[in-house]
Amino acid sequence: MGLLALGVEPGDVVITSTLTFAATANSIVYAGAEPYFIDVDPATGNLDPELLACALTELGSNGERIGAIIPVDLLGKAANYTKIERLAQRFQVPILADAAESLGASHRGRAAGSFGRASIVSFNGNKIMTTSGGGMLLSREREVIDNARYLSTQARQPVRHYEHVDIGFNYRLSNILAALGRAQLSRLDEMIARRRDIRDRYRELFAAVPGVQIFGGEYDREDNCWLTAILVDPEITGWTAIDLCEALDAEGIESRPLWKPMHLQPIFADARGNISGAAQRLYETGLTLPSGSAMTQTQFERVLERLRAFVDRAGRP
Ligand SMILES: *Cc1c(COP(=O)(O)O)cnc(C)c1O
Repeated sequence: MGLLALGVEPGDVVITSTLTFAATANSIVYAGAEPYFIDVDPATGNLDPELLACALTELGSNGERIGAIIPVDLLGKAANYTKIERLAQRFQVPILADAAESLGASHRGRAAGSFGRASIVSFNGNKIMTTSGGGMLLSREREVIDNARYLSTQARQPVRHYEHVDIGFNYRLSNILAALGRAQLSRLDEMIARRRDIRDRYRELFAAVPGVQIFGGEYDREDNCWLTAILVDPEITGWTAIDLCEALDAEGIESRPLWKPMHLQPIFADARGNISGAAQRLYETGLTLPSGSAMTQTQFERVLERLRAFVDRAGRP
C-alpha cells in the first residue's frame, strides 16, 4: 500500500536492504516493481549509505526510474536516516521506511516510523507489540494516507452504488484488532524496558566470552531491543553460532540465525544489487537469542543458565 500510495509503478526499480524479512522484498514485487538489493553496514546490519549512493548514481545514469528506497530498521535499530534522507533528497527518490521491527526506537532523537515520506510498522505476533496480525502505514502527508486507505478498503468510489475505477485490496486492520493494539500500545514502554533488560543480561554473560559480541551492541541506546543477537567468531570461540543453536534446541530453547539475505534466496537469485558480503557474514555468524517480553523470569534464568553451561563446556579444551 505504501509503495502504491507513493506512486511506484510497474517496471520501477525499488531499492532495499538485502538483510531483511522476505515481506519487504515481496511488497516490491506485489507493486510490479523490481527489487534491487543493497548490502549493509556490518556494525548495525542496516542499509549501507555508501553502497546506496553508488546504486543511485549507477541506476540514475542508466536512465532507470527508481520508484522508492525502503530502508529496514533491523532488529529494532533505526537505519542511518541522516545519510539516507540526504541521498533520497539529492536523487529525488521517496523513502518508504520499513519500521516493522523498530516501533519505539529512534535515530538521533527522532522516532522510528517518522522518517521518509511514509513508514510501515508490523503488529504481527512476533513483533514488540502485536494485534495478532496486521500493521500500520504512517505518513505526515494527508494525500498518501487517503490514497492508501482508499486502495486498502476495496477502492470504492464515494457513491451509493458500488463504483470502481481502480483495483482495490482488502488490507484493513479490523476494529477488534485495532482495539487490541490500543491496549498493547499503552504497554509499549514497559515491553521495551523488559527487552532492554534482557539484552543487558546477555551482554553481561557474554562480556566474559572472547569471540562473542552483542550484535549492534555499541550503538543500542536508541534501539527498542526487539531481538538480541550475538555474533560468533568461531576461530576464537572454537564453536559456531549453529553449534550453540543446536545445543539450545536440544534443551527446547529456540534461537535462530539472522535473516538469510534476500540476494541469497532462490526466489530472488536473479535480482540485481550492490553486494559487499557483509549481510552474508552476519547471516553466517549471527544468532538471535530468546528476547520476548512475555518470557517469564524463570524461563529467562533457565536460558541464561544453559548458555553459561554451553560456553563453559565448549570453552574447555
Ligand atoms: C515482520 C516484518 C515485516 C512484515 O510484517 P507482517 O506484519 O508480518 O506483514 C516486514 N518487514 C520486516 C523487516 C519484518 O520484520
